[in-house]
This record gives sequence, C-alpha cells and structure tokens, in this order.
Amino acid sequence: MNDENTLNPNSAPAVVYDKNNLFPSTLKRRVLLNKEGTDKETLHLEMCLAGSGLEYCPGDSLAIVPTNSAEVVERTIEAGGFDPGEKVEIKSGATKPLGEAFTSALAITGLTKIILKKYNDFAQSEKIETLLDPENRATLEDYLWGREVVDMLTDFPIPGLSASDFCGILRQQPPRLYSIASSLKAHPDEVHLTIAIVRYHSHGRDREGVCSTLTADRVNEGETMPVYMHGNKRFKLPEDGEKPIIMVGPGTGIAPFRAFVEERIATGVTSKSWLFFGDQHRETDYLYGDEWERYLDEGKLSRIDLAFSRDQDHKIYVQHRMLEHAAEMWTWLSDGAVFYVCGDASRMAKDVHEALITIAEKEGGKSREDAEAWVKQLNSDKRYRKDVY
Ligand code: NAP
Repeated sequence: MNDENTLNPNSAPAVVYDKNNLFPSTLKRRVLLNKEGTDKETLHLEMCLAGSGLEYCPGDSLAIVPTNSAEVVERTIEAGGFDPGEKVEIKSGATKPLGEAFTSALAITGLTKIILKKYNDFAQSEKIETLLDPENRATLEDYLWGREVVDMLTDFPIPGLSASDFCGILRQQPPRLYSIASSLKAHPDEVHLTIAIVRYHSHGRDREGVCSTLTADRVNEGETMPVYMHGNKRFKLPEDGEKPIIMVGPGTGIAPFRAFVEERIATGVTSKSWLFFGDQHRETDYLYGDEWERYLDEGKLSRIDLAFSRDQDHKIYVQHRMLEHAAEMWTWLSDGAVFYVCGDASRMAKDVHEALITIAEKEGGKSREDAEAWVKQLNSDKRYRKDVY
C-alpha cells in the first residue's frame, strides 16, 4: 500500500546536504592507478555517501571544498610577516584566527591580476604598477606563470600590512569539481573519483594543487572530506538506450566513461559502445585497464582504441586513432551514435573537434564549410556532448 500519510523512516533524510550544508564523506579506499615507473600520479578514490541522501547520475560531478596544507599556510603567514593568532573577519561575518582562516576559508595560492591590483592599493609599488600597465601584458603573464600569493608577498613586502587588510583582497576558497567515475547503481552509497595529483617545482619552490594533494596526502582512509553534488544535465547517457555511443576520454577524462559503462551494464543497455582512451604509457598508465579488457571480453564494451603518446618516437593521441578509423566513425555517427568527449579543454578537445570535422570532410564527402555545419548540427541535436576543463 502506498499511503502518502504513512511516514517512512527511511525515505527522506532529516538533513539536506548541498553546497550550503556540506556532507562529510568518508574516504573508504584510495588506489594509485599508475604502475611503478610512471611519471604520473592518478588516484582512484572511493567515498561513502551512506546516510547523506545524496544521489547522482553518470555525467554529474562531485564538489570537494578543500583546506590548505599547514605548510602552505605557514609559508604564507611567514612571507607576510603576519601574526597567526590575529582575528580576521571572513565572508560569513564570523571572525577567526588568521591561521584558521588561511586553512579553511580563503584561497591563498592562486595569483591573479586582480589580486595583484588589490594588493597594490596597499603596496603602492611602482614595479607592480608597471606590471599592471596594459602595455606590459606579456610581462605580467610571465610574472604570474607558476607564481602564487606567497611569491607576491615575498617579492613586494609591505611592512606592517594588517592581516585583515590582506584577507580583504583574497577570494573565498572555491570548491573543486571532479567528474564522477562510478554508477550509483553499481556502487550503492558510494561515489568514485579519478584525480590527477598536481605537484611541480617553479621559481625555486615545490608547489602543489590544493585539492588534489588534500585527497592524496592529507586525508587518510576512514577520514572525511566536505562534499556536495553538482549535476550536469548536458553530459548524460542517451535517453534512447538503442543509440550507440562513442566516448573520447584521455587521462582523467576517462572518469565519466567508467560511470557510463557501469550504468549501462547495471541497466541492461546493450547498444554499441566505443571508447577512445590515451595516456603516456600502456605499461604504467592504462587507467582502469583491467576493467576495460574484461568488459571487452564480456561484450559489455563493443570496442576500444588506445593512444599511448609516449610508447613510440612520435606522439599518438586519441584524435589520431579517430582519424585512423574515420570510415567506421562515420558509419557509427551516420547510424545515430552520440559522441562524448571529456578532459583537457585547452588542446585535446579542440583537436578532437577538428578531427570530427576532418572525418565529415573525408568520409562524408563534405566541403570544409559543410563539415563544420554538420558538426554544429551534431551539437544542436545533443549528439556531441562535452565535459572539458
Ligand atoms: P593529460 O595531461 O590530459 O594527458 C593524457 C594524455 O593526453 C597523454 O597521453 C597526453 O600526451 C595526451 N595529450 C596531450 N596533448 C594532447 C592533445 N592535444 N590531444 C590529445 N591528447 C593529448 O592527463 P591527465 O592525467 O588528465 O592530466 C594530467 C595533468 O594535467 C593534471 O595535473 C591535470 O590537472 C592537468 N590538466 C589540466 C587541464 C587544464 O588545466 N586545462 C586539463 C586537463 C589536465 P603527452 O603528455 O605525452 O603529450
């Protein structure tokens, strides 16, 4: 009986978790996906959603609100000559000791033109003024490249700058969005992520990505991270389960496609599926390789084409594989396949877009202009979907 007046203790959670009320999700398992000898550090995380009432569909993202590491906080306080105990006001109107505000409320790494400009209201530095001159755009870009807030404090010190004034020029710590790598149907109460850990050395210092190194170094299995769900209506499996799908996801771009394939298996969708994946070396960087090979053997993935860029003298990328198989790509697309791409926006996604145009020219016998229009139409028809960053 479905009686609306009957209260089901398991139906609605007492608390709603969202971006204003973050859920503390426990890290259940962390696995390094790369093998020994790799130059990469890509992690697979399994996090717990039990008791949260949070749900997601393949294509959605999980937002993590990170904290800054103690080392970065200390370094920034020292460079500014601040008192870590000084109380500062944060956006919510509450006051916190500076050390705490730097740890959990403010973005203290990324350096931008806006921050430099606001900082110069206090510094009144001629050197900064020169950098900010529109005529010196290239010099400014050069200065900002690989530098962080701590470098600005070191390069242009302001004796006596108050912590409150300094906090006033900083942004709130933004959440980081990660494309979900699991299907909730395959892993009830769990959400999986695929995260590339960012570490590099520039201008004499070791640097690290705030959130990626939180997930790698500063949270142990069994500990929690504050999260919320971020839907993405535009990056979804086709409603019509008969439609074939083509998925292009090099590097961490693979994440949503693991979710897609798991969801198709869980819901019994059997239309054709074709995955393009690429990374540096097959031996060490074939992310989720065992799963893909098993799905292929079991007929749960129709086809995979791999592009390991550094296994030979010349680079081979996913778009090169698309072009090698242009005739079949054209047949799939002509049969109504939905085309997905996920990963690097700055170069990869542009090259993949170009490859689609070339395929339409070569295999569809179209002029460049018509091929571009055809790709545009694919997009309007929601058969060309992107999750690029
Ligand atoms: P990735 O660096 O995107 O690399 C994955 C594969 O794509 C590699 O084999 C790489 O080859 C290849 N690749 C490079 N340029 C390409 C192009 N124009 N077209 C197609 N493939 C291309 O892998 P990831 O592990 O996802 O990311 C690693 C790091 O890059 C992380 O630190 C991540 O945060 C950062 N990243 C930044 C952005 C961004 O800010 N826009 C986007 C994506 C990734 P080679 O390396 O051998 O050239």
